[in-house]
Amino acid sequence: MSSGRLAGKVIVVTGAARGQGAAEAAALAREGATVVATDVRGGENVRRLDVTQAEDWADLASYLREAYGTVNGLVNNAGITWRARLDEVTTEDMNRVHAVNVHGPLLGIQRLAPLMPPGASVVNVGSSAALTAHYPVAYTTSKWALRGLSKTAALELGPRGIRVNTIHPGFIETEMTASAPPAFRKANIAETPLGRVGRVEEVTPLVVFLLSEESSFITGADIPVDGGLTSHGGVKSVSDALGTEVG
Ligand code: NAD
Repeated sequence: MSSGRLAGKVIVVTGAARGQGAAEAAALAREGATVVATDVRGGENVRRLDVTQAEDWADLASYLREAYGTVNGLVNNAGITWRARLDEVTTEDMNRVHAVNVHGPLLGIQRLAPLMPPGASVVNVGSSAALTAHYPVAYTTSKWALRGLSKTAALELGPRGIRVNTIHPGFIETEMTASAPPAFRKANIAETPLGRVGRVEEVTPLVVFLLSEESSFITGADIPVDGGLTSHGGVKSVSDALGTEVG
């Protein structure tokens, strides 16, 4: 039997082919978990699963039932962005982004919760966009909706001893943020009290903690991991503008 804070636990991670999901899968495995890494892309040691497809989740649930008889954790990490603004976003954009970022986690919870014993934990990956008026409309509304799903799931699954929490990364260096215009990175750094972007290795410890028994009384929580980005209500620029002046 392996040792570690997650020894003996079977944990599913979505969107695990790259970025935060790949780092989370690796960190969970280092803590002794049996990780089922999934992604729409598939790949080496990554099971193909499109989070928007109910059949893919049903197939995964059958596999988990046969292979392990249980599942102790789910990280709903898969997500997509779409940077259209209010005057240009379409219904199709909204549906596509919400299908992955909201309906995907819902399907995952619906299909896997029946296999979860007391003590199981679900981590939904939100965003600083879920706490603020972030400019990409489809993405922002989807991440706010994911918070609502998380709260409802925490309420419904609590009596079974299953916890559901949402983490809210700020700007983290991945292929997703690499696809944004340079001004996006610069403006994020300016609004972040720690004055820099984050790395995937700075998100994974929180995910490990929330899947471990160390967080056994934490559920329904929204936890930012954002260098302080969402903590200051937009008044960092005021503080910066005044420098060290008194008055
Ligand atoms: P990424 O684009 O590098 O990785 C996302 C992964 O999700 C990819 O491997 C992709 O193939 C997969 N994916 C996309 N659609 C899928 C689907 N339908 N089914 C299954 N897998 C699918 O992005 P990332 O930065 O690692 O983002 C991970 C999560 O963190 C996302 O939910 C994202 O919204 C969130 N997030 C990222 C940042 C950031 O700064 N990078 C900030 C806040 C929140």
